[in-house]
Amino acid sequence: AWRQSEIKKTKTVCTFCGVGCAFELWTRGRKILKVQPVEEAPVNGISTCIKGKFGWDFVNSDDRLTTPLIRENGRFREAGWDEAYALIARRFTEIRDQHGPDAMMFVASSKCTNEESYLMQKLARAVIGTNNIDNCSRYCQAPATQGLWRTMGYGGDGGSISDLEQAEVILFLGSNTAESHPVLATRLKQAHKHRGQKHIVFDLRRHEMAERADIFLRPKPGTDLIWLSAVSKYILDHGLEDEAFLKEKVKHLEEYRKSLEPFTMEYAEEMTGIAASRLEEVARTLAAAETLCAVWAMGVTQHVAGSDTSTAIANLLLVTGNSARRGTGAYPMRGHNNVQGCSDFGSMPDRFPGYEFVSDDEVRARYEDSWGVKLSTNSGYNNHTLVEGIHDGKIKSLYIMGEEMAIMDADAHYVQSAFDKLEFVVVQDIFFSRTCEHADVILPAAPSLEKEGTFVNTERRLQRLYQVMEPLGNSKPDWLIQTEIARALGADWDYPSPREIMEEAASLAPMFAGVTYERLEGYKSLQWPIAADGTDTPHLYLDGFAFPDGKAKLYPLEFTPPSEQTDEEFDLHVNNGRLLETFHEGNLTHRSAALRSQVPMNFVEVSPQLARKRGIQSGSLVKLISRHGEIQVRVLVTDRVEGKELYIPENATDNIRAINLLTSDEADKDSDTPAYKEIAAKMEVLEVD
Ligand code: SF4
Repeated sequence: AWRQSEIKKTKTVCTFCGVGCAFELWTRGRKILKVQPVEEAPVNGISTCIKGKFGWDFVNSDDRLTTPLIRENGRFREAGWDEAYALIARRFTEIRDQHGPDAMMFVASSKCTNEESYLMQKLARAVIGTNNIDNCSRYCQAPATQGLWRTMGYGGDGGSISDLEQAEVILFLGSNTAESHPVLATRLKQAHKHRGQKHIVFDLRRHEMAERADIFLRPKPGTDLIWLSAVSKYILDHGLEDEAFLKEKVKHLEEYRKSLEPFTMEYAEEMTGIAASRLEEVARTLAAAETLCAVWAMGVTQHVAGSDTSTAIANLLLVTGNSARRGTGAYPMRGHNNVQGCSDFGSMPDRFPGYEFVSDDEVRARYEDSWGVKLSTNSGYNNHTLVEGIHDGKIKSLYIMGEEMAIMDADAHYVQSAFDKLEFVVVQDIFFSRTCEHADVILPAAPSLEKEGTFVNTERRLQRLYQVMEPLGNSKPDWLIQTEIARALGADWDYPSPREIMEEAASLAPMFAGVTYERLEGYKSLQWPIAADGTDTPHLYLDGFAFPDGKAKLYPLEFTPPSEQTDEEFDLHVNNGRLLETFHEGNLTHRSAALRSQVPMNFVEVSPQLARKRGIQSGSLVKLISRHGEIQVRVLVTDRVEGKELYIPENATDNIRAINLLTSDEADKDSDTPAYKEIAAKMEVLEVD
């Protein structure tokens, strides 16, 4: 037993997903005694999921990086911070002088804080002079942001989680909500069970939300845009639209109506494999709902037409009048704890913090005045195009903060061979990741429990995290490392703490004008946009859509087929995604004994029909071969998948089992998000049991 006086209780925000649960961590020294949720936590109250409760062993793992490492003669040796900074400053300066600032690329981390995203883009733009800066929203929800920018104006959830709870009907598309956003899903499962909320699920896989849904339909892979457009057309053709809403608040109805002509129910049935009668039932249910929300995730976005399908969802919400009211709206689910904030605070190649364009002279002048430098107007490379940029010899150097890019970008072999061509790579992380294998300098960083800052959750909510314990060994918080690198490069940066970084960001980005640490004290939170007087925005568009005339825009679309189709040889479609017990590739959660014991290794879900046909069972070892690579995994036979559909979790970092050894370098045509969900593969059986 511990004496109460020995126990430190510190508020933090979970580092594992975009729901944004906050809770107290009870510690004695570095020992984590308990995760204690509290009523005041705005998102989760007294709930957490298994990751928030048991996922923290990684913080004290023996594998933590605790001192800078420098590559010498092909091996890493320990170094002091000053030596590492001096080498980085020298090589960055040489590369910039020799090849120009656009030969360098900066990658921010969605696991890091808003303040650290702000500093990364400032380092790229103000100190080096390039807009080559991006973050991993490029891999997930950039298409949803595109879809919402086109139609409604803001690239964020239309309301709050409380709106989702209130809605009469929720349409889930390509979102494994129960596993990827567990606490949020629990709130919706309760609304479903106790308040009669209706759930309609479109997905390839019978996950938990599908299992419990009122209507569950499986479209053929990559055909969501077709049924969404057919449902919109049916609603308009049958006079079921919200006429008053469309008249008062929405533009371009006639162009949109015309664009829907090809999307008949017969065409939708043929292309999606879903009976027209079922789609008509969906159309009538959606049109009749008093309040409707749409929840979507990577099953929609990670396609060559991910932006278009996200736009089609927004179109459907507008046709039915389900935006700009409580209990309605668009909810693209954010994956990482701070993937929303990382983009919000400017780690994007064409936008400053708060999504203002780098090409806008007035906006740029504001930053130039504040930072005292001339800034580039060119939009830079993003996390996906940088791979081609390296192969083309345009990018010579990378600075990667907290991202496992070598295995989490699509077509991993192609990515790894690109990284091998770089002249100088800095990786800043808490573990020796697979990406570190390509580094020249590795900088040991501090995880969320060892620093201060803020995160933004999926509903645009800023929350503070407080330092639970000191950084381990010689590791440092990312914001401090960035500041010291900038100083080594000659910049006069002086940030005593993250508070001063946020003050600067808030003074420059109108979207965050009213953000102060005082207004975020304890469990207080703010949802953007946040006016200078501190008024925040739990529900977007109540006073009009985010365009100059306040009107939303219906956006005409055409269908683009998936980049890969199955054929006689590559006859299986491979879907992929998360599991409840693992976060992303697993660099953090695999180091938690409780979580690791649940999922010891990666696997492939195989349908009972396919298992029978191939003579395999749970535990069999198979080789999966795509047109881009191959992996070896054990089989789990389950009726969550059907027919020739496979599902592989993304929880592996080795070059044997990781899903991205199978994916291609095709990407969404409007946002460059890789088409992770478009894989055709064949299977060879290696061991039956
Ligand atoms: Fe953390 Fe997400 Fe679980 Fe909440 S739901 S405890 S934020 S992983």
